[in-house]
Amino acid sequence: MKTTKNDGFATRAIHAGEEPDFRDGATGDVVVPIHLSTTFARKKVSEPTGGYEYTRSLNPTRKALETKLAALEHAQYGLAFSSGLAAETTVLLSLLNPGDHIVAFDDLYGGTKRLINHVFSKYEYKVSYVDASDVSLVEKAIQPNTKLVWIESTSNPLLKLCYIQSVAEITRRNSLILVVDNTFLSPVFQKPLNIGADIVVHSSTKYIGGHSDVLGGAVLTSNATYYERLQYHQNAVGAVLSPFDSYLTLRGIKTLEVRLERHEKNALRIATYLSNHPKVKKVIYPGLASHPQHELAKRQSTGFGGVLSFEIAGEIREAEIFLEKLHLFALAESLGGVESLIEIPSVMTHASVAPEVRAETGITDTLIRISVGIEDVEDLIADLKQAIE
Ligand SMILES: *Cc1c(COP(=O)(O)O)cnc(C)c1O
Repeated sequence: MKTTKNDGFATRAIHAGEEPDFRDGATGDVVVPIHLSTTFARKKVSEPTGGYEYTRSLNPTRKALETKLAALEHAQYGLAFSSGLAAETTVLLSLLNPGDHIVAFDDLYGGTKRLINHVFSKYEYKVSYVDASDVSLVEKAIQPNTKLVWIESTSNPLLKLCYIQSVAEITRRNSLILVVDNTFLSPVFQKPLNIGADIVVHSSTKYIGGHSDVLGGAVLTSNATYYERLQYHQNAVGAVLSPFDSYLTLRGIKTLEVRLERHEKNALRIATYLSNHPKVKKVIYPGLASHPQHELAKRQSTGFGGVLSFEIAGEIREAEIFLEKLHLFALAESLGGVESLIEIPSVMTHASVAPEVRAETGITDTLIRISVGIEDVEDLIADLKQAIE
């Protein structure tokens, strides 16, 4: 029952990392057990049983998840962390040195910007933010001390895309490390390692976990040197995912593909509904022909994802009234769960971004972001309709 690279996505999502154990005394579980033990006994002083010594270093449940995640992203190696930011911290700590320079997408997740600007600034990491949807700006920002390029595709909340293959040509030519945060599209729709990325990071809190009940992060790579350093730091820093959270994430992944298909179908219907509504000024969704990078989205990924943003006509007060009148959409931050969430970035997720920066990047006061869930889309549209009217 060992899965291979030739197996389809759903087959790998269900079986990879969870082959039943038929050794003497084992019970052949089809679901990997939650190994809660923090330490593992051995019979012989110099022989750790099955390679296991202590859970921070290696745990069977977490290992099953790391194997499954690697299989999904077509990576050789996977590592699971206690949050997306813990995964990112470990990447930044293991691969960079004081004084190194990073080129990053200006529309990066706010927590990632905070980490680079306010935590790693202490270690004298330097950073240039550029609009990486224009690849030439990435190349122009490279300095002699640049080590790494960090992008997201799709970005948030403006849903800008980055032409990964083209950025990868630049990073390869300049011997830089290309990191892609693949949280928004998930490996169902996009596999950055196949198109030139060196490292993929995830907040598995979002689509991978998928049920808004488990925080987690992951790092995937096929580069043995990077993996060795990352794994060393995973153990040395210790921000690992717990066995129970590893189990919840494994469970979530089994339905990742069917969930994403439904998220996207619902998102496209809602995006189309909102685009035709007179009280909506503009809808941003890569699946709409009106999105400036719609062609790139079709070429680069196999789906457009489940998040869309739109601008409602009027002032912030109208936006607030609209949000508070909704019944089915929870007014909440985060994304990627089965339930629909709605939020207003200027007041919620992006409140910490300076107003001038928000205005410059296009995060207006009436911009609203929806993480479309997998409920019945007719019910979602009816709820939006009553609230908007
Ligand atoms: C949520 C998120 C993160 C941070 O992950 P946590 O699990 O919340 O630490 C990083 N990148 C993106 C794109 C995210 O959406």
